[in-house]
Amino acid sequence: MKIEFRKISGAAAPFEMNNELFLCQGSFKKLSQRLVDLNFHLKSDISLICDRCGDSYVDHIDDKMHLKVYDGNFEGDDLDMIECHDHFVDFDAIISGEIEAIKSDYHYCKNCKEIQGE
Ligand SMILES: [Zn+2]
Repeated sequence: MKIEFRKISGAAAPFEMNNELFLCQGSFKKLSQRLVDLNFHLKSDISLICDRCGDSYVDHIDDKMHLKVYDGNFEGDDLDMIECHDHFVDFDAIISGEIEAIKSDYHYCKNCKEIQGE
């Protein structure tokens, strides 16, 4: 799903995406001419690799997320800011990017978490 920046209004519009990778429900609205605000609930089963024992396992994401999308090069240091360079908000790319970001974090499987807890 891609929506052109100039077609997004200041009133929150609902969106829902449901595919084999994730379920996402939320809303988006324009905050200023080049800034769009995204609020959504993301559910996904992602396969992870334990950083301790190397086993792969599946974890369930069920998170509320809040992101801001900027049309162009954002000059500032807001870490939650996502830049778009073609005047479109690409929801698929943004949400896939968030899932990749979660994957690239450190993860421990259930067994290793228990060991760590001792
Ligand atoms: Zn492990």
